[in-house]
Amino acid sequence: MEFVEALQVRNFEFLRRTPKSDLHNHATRGGNIRDFLNDIDLPQRNFRSLDEMQYWYDSNVKYLFSGREGFISRVKSAFKQAKNDGVTRLALSFGIGDSIHFTNIEEYLAELKSIQHSIAPEINFIPELCLGRTDNIEPVEEMFEEVLSYGFFKSIDLVGDDRLPVSNYKNIYRKAKRNGYILKAHLGEFGDAESIRKGVNDLELDEVQHGISAVTSRDVMHWLRDNDVQLNVCPSSNVMLNRVNSYEKHPIKELFYHGIRVTINSDDMLIFDQSVTQDYLNLYDSGCLSATDLNVVRGFGLDPSCSQADD
Ligand SMILES: [Zn+2]
Repeated sequence: MEFVEALQVRNFEFLRRTPKSDLHNHATRGGNIRDFLNDIDLPQRNFRSLDEMQYWYDSNVKYLFSGREGFISRVKSAFKQAKNDGVTRLALSFGIGDSIHFTNIEEYLAELKSIQHSIAPEINFIPELCLGRTDNIEPVEEMFEEVLSYGFFKSIDLVGDDRLPVSNYKNIYRKAKRNGYILKAHLGEFGDAESIRKGVNDLELDEVQHGISAVTSRDVMHWLRDNDVQLNVCPSSNVMLNRVNSYEKHPIKELFYHGIRVTINSDDMLIFDQSVTQDYLNLYDSGCLSATDLNVVRGFGLDPSCSQADD
């Protein structure tokens, strides 16, 4: 059986075991809530904003699993979840703030390395440094210098209000580029299409986390396609945060048909509770993308060198 056929007959087990990527995953929120709570205790999820989502997470999950042990158990859960879901290429995003649970940054990174080796050594793991948008860039630049010296991360991402300009991160991103990092930022989830083009230009991004508002501008879509910028899309996150109305109407369809490299990712599995496998099914069942299209999308995530022109 092939992935396409498995989608058509809704063979979840086969789909789950088939290799796939997850390139937009906030490590400490990437686990499975069933590792922490039983079915009876699972809270309701319903969010109208990022703030509401954060509040839900803090009051239902994080407070139960805080501190060093809580942090470690959430990261372990993320690796376990990815492995169980057949994810073979995994970018997990880590903030430096969580180094507070350790003696220093070096010990923090060593712990992350050891968790990966103990749970999912066979996964193609892309450790990603997650920075938060701030005006006070100097301490971030200093911290980044130190982090660079450990040679652990292979990718960099920027989170926070994606309508804010990103040009003060240019220095950091130039350095990251010289050190072979994959360059990413959260853009176009709340911000408009032009903010995506501006952010990609300013930081010379390879990939955009979300980027769905590009769908409102044919010009920006063509520009993303022509510059081979990949969009790491999170369908369930977008539906649950009301960025889109439904899986059926999800912009991934238009973006894909405009020739953009799009991938399917989990964002915050611990909160949205939809695995990558489940999101392939969600898009298929809703009629958003065909089984063949979804298999092409799967290929984009697994092989950074393939494009729609290869088909
Ligand atoms: Zn995200």
